Amino acid sequence: MDTTLGKTQSLPPDVEGTAFARALAAFREAIGAEWVLSEPEELAPFHDPYPVRGQEHFAPSAVLRPGTVEDVQAIVRIANETRVPLSPVSTGKNNGYGGASPRLCGAVVVDMGNRMNRVLEVNEKFGYALVEPGVTYFDLYDHLQKSNSALMLDCPDLGWGSIVGNTMDRGVGYSPYGDHFLWQTGMEVVLPTGDVMRTGMGAVPGSNTWQLFPYGFGPYPDGLFTQSNFGIVTKMGIALMQRPPASMTYLITFDREEDLEAIVDIMLPLRINMAPIQNVPVIRNIVLDAGTVSKRSEWYDGPGPLPPSAIEKMKKTLGLGYWNFYGTLYGPPPMIDMFWTMIKDAFGTIEGAKFFTHEERKDRGGEILQDRHKINNGIPSLDEMRLMEYIPNAGHVCFSPISAPDGKDALRQFEMVKARADEYSKDYAADFIIGLREMHHICLFLFDTKDEKSKEETFDLTRLLIAEAAAEGYGEYRTTTRSWMTSWRRSAGAAVRCESSTRRSRTPSIQIPSWLRASPASGAGASAIAACK
Ligand SMILES: Cc1cc2nc3c(=O)[nH]c(=O)nc-3n(C[C@H](O)[C@H](O)[C@H](O)COP(=O)(O)OP(=O)(O)OC[C@H]3O[C@@H](n4cnc5c(N)ncnc54)[C@H](O)[C@@H]3O)c2cc1C
Repeated sequence: MDTTLGKTQSLPPDVEGTAFARALAAFREAIGAEWVLSEPEELAPFHDPYPVRGQEHFAPSAVLRPGTVEDVQAIVRIANETRVPLSPVSTGKNNGYGGASPRLCGAVVVDMGNRMNRVLEVNEKFGYALVEPGVTYFDLYDHLQKSNSALMLDCPDLGWGSIVGNTMDRGVGYSPYGDHFLWQTGMEVVLPTGDVMRTGMGAVPGSNTWQLFPYGFGPYPDGLFTQSNFGIVTKMGIALMQRPPASMTYLITFDREEDLEAIVDIMLPLRINMAPIQNVPVIRNIVLDAGTVSKRSEWYDGPGPLPPSAIEKMKKTLGLGYWNFYGTLYGPPPMIDMFWTMIKDAFGTIEGAKFFTHEERKDRGGEILQDRHKINNGIPSLDEMRLMEYIPNAGHVCFSPISAPDGKDALRQFEMVKARADEYSKDYAADFIIGLREMHHICLFLFDTKDEKSKEETFDLTRLLIAEAAAEGYGEYRTTTRSWMTSWRRSAGAAVRCESSTRRSRTPSIQIPSWLRASPASGAGASAIAACK
């Protein structure tokens, strides 16, 4: 904190007030004064919307809004000269994982999406879009609608985030193209030196295959720019699938907690071959489903966790199971019918399993099914935000360990988390998002943002779970800024991530491998540094 600028301000570590004022002046000169924000009310949207610790731990010192790639280059060069750390966001809607707040308190947030928000290309023939960081799922959907496109995008639960930001945090959606990093098709990145690099075939001047062959020639650097701070992405391609001739979204309800083991074991062979389970399905528990369509007080008004009687009431009233499996089938109707029969035959072996299609459930318990039908068909939605009405002043943090798609392992992880959630008076609201050979176990711990005790409990619970999970060999796929504080050091892989993130945040001029600094003249594969578009 510093008051030399005439107000209380978070400053980057090791940068004193007058030096910071000089950095702000240089940023203003480079990108225009109106795009440099430093007043407290201007910085407020760049705090964590759901803080479990005081905002002062993760406050930005300023926000920059570049309008061009050259602006981003100038920002990085000034940051190097003035030793000011940068923290890029695209739309900054990473809610549940820290929002737009920087990991390193006092870092300068680079708000990439505010002015750089164009859809640069949609290629109908090859099925991809090239976008700037500010393009949201809603934006690309509108663009495809207006141009009467035959293509469909893949959306996460909430469509307000950006395609670039979500992919940079290795986020997920739910169509067959749900693994967003897998389906990104090439990036343009401003490196810590201020140079611009295009990945894959984008490195070849005049190439018409930038978005068609992401690997290029030689080492494949794209992953370095995700969940890191090794560069600022200024453009990215994303693959888009053809809209199918028909689709059907289904719900299978399973009554008992322990059914999870059989659900996962039956699911794996059907998923791993991408048929008959074609998309990224989800197994949601009753609290997550009920929490999205109702308030907690309808079921139970006492202190947490929910007693078994409240859970039973939820299941009965909403016509749902303890576990609810949602998926979508795509293709010509006879193929959908055939796959649906295969799925029913397989899961029908679990006692009490019930099967529904989106056409059959228009009741309150079917609202999630309707929402999933939209999302899984590339129509962005914000319905899942209703979860924030489950308790008063709701916020949440996500604890998101990876589980093997193995029944016993999933059940063990569920029991570990649920037991600790019970102990800390939290309702276990969670889902398993199924990739091909792994599951993201997303546990959303809701808390009252105005209740210090509730925040404290949530923070302690999350830290404990991270440590316990690491001791069992489980790591998270993505984590909230708060979780970086200490516990990640307990697992070796995570510790590397924590160190590198901190180091790079402090040092924008971080050393990059020599192969990333290859000369543009040194051949197709090595010509990583490209001119701006
Ligand atoms: C109820 C609820 C449901 C959710 N469901 C989902 C879901 O289904 N799937 C999912 O993935 N998430 C989900 N989320 C989390 C989150 O809302 C989304 O992932 C959202 O898309 C992330 O925000 P964003 O796109 O604005 O990314 P940003 O906040 O802009 O970016 C995320 C991170 O990526 C990095 N980054 C961003 N832009 C750049 C850049 N240009 N260059 C380099 N690095 C960059 C930064 O580290 C940044 O912190 C959910 C959240 C809530 C509250």
